Amino acid sequence: MPARRSAIAKQSFVRCSVTVARGPRAEWLAAEAFEAGACGLEERDAAEGAFTSLVVYAPAERAERLRCALTALLADDEHAGEPEPVPDTDWSQAWREGLCALEISPRLVVRPSFVAHTARPGQATLLVDPGQAFGTGGHASTRLALELLDAERAGLGPGTRVLDVGTGTGVLALAALRLGAGSAVGCDVDPVAAHSARENAARNALDRRLQVFAGSISALAPVRFPLVVANLLRRELAPLLGDVSAHLAPEGVALLSGLLADEVPALEPLLRGAGLRVESRRDLTDATGDRWSGLRVVPARAPARRRGVAPA
Ligand code: SAH
Repeated sequence: MPARRSAIAKQSFVRCSVTVARGPRAEWLAAEAFEAGACGLEERDAAEGAFTSLVVYAPAERAERLRCALTALLADDEHAGEPEPVPDTDWSQAWREGLCALEISPRLVVRPSFVAHTARPGQATLLVDPGQAFGTGGHASTRLALELLDAERAGLGPGTRVLDVGTGTGVLALAALRLGAGSAVGCDVDPVAAHSARENAARNALDRRLQVFAGSISALAPVRFPLVVANLLRRELAPLLGDVSAHLAPEGVALLSGLLADEVPALEPLLRGAGLRVESRRDLTDATGDRWSGLRVVPARAPARRRGVAPA
């Protein structure tokens, strides 16, 4: 079920092509570009040899600031083009990248801070800026996970502690908090993602309820959570199933996204091996035709079909 796209106040964006030395220098420049107001970045890698090509996106009102910053940062053999307006036709792509307000349900909308949207009465807004981390709601796997979370809302309360494995921007943990969970822990092996999740938590005044650490789930103390969410590719998720199971409360629920629909059958024996079973499944086809699956998973010994997440 595709999420409904809400009425969006269209923003003007510019993009700027930069040729920069590959490797740490390009990474450093990308970080500086975000500091200077960029909201998106694409590495095209078309340039030859020691150089790579970055396309930096920013809201039009930040174009001059971005241009000045890039000019000041570049070495003599590096180059930045003039910022140019992003054509309207790129908006279909921008939507997939999560640069628009995304209405997950009548209760939840996820949007970047630079996109205007008027929430409906009773609708919670989550501000998630893309930065360099994954997870703005625009990707089908994130959207599926958000829809699965929304379906759990009745069981979320101040006593619900959530574990978000591979938190990226923090979007899933923050959505769980917005939907009523009391506290959350997010982990990500990528320190840039952990930083972005902390920033997004602060942006939503949820930083006291979300604890983020850079590292894998295996680094967690042996604590069990009534709700675990993980939007990871199959190859990333499969080795973590034992850990997911170990951190899931006996009456808990794990929401697993990031799987292509045809990967699910091969995952099921691995889930069983980890003491888990699929209770229900939701599929979503993205704009490119890929079919993604989100799974509601419970401990294999858990009683059949419960209505929601048990309190911690
Ligand atoms: N939760 C966000 C981001 C998903 S992208 C969303 O739903 O949109 C997957 C994230 O998992 C990436 O940020 C990646 O760095 C992280 N990741 C990959 N393997 C991991 C592991 N073993 N432990 C923790 N994080 C992992």
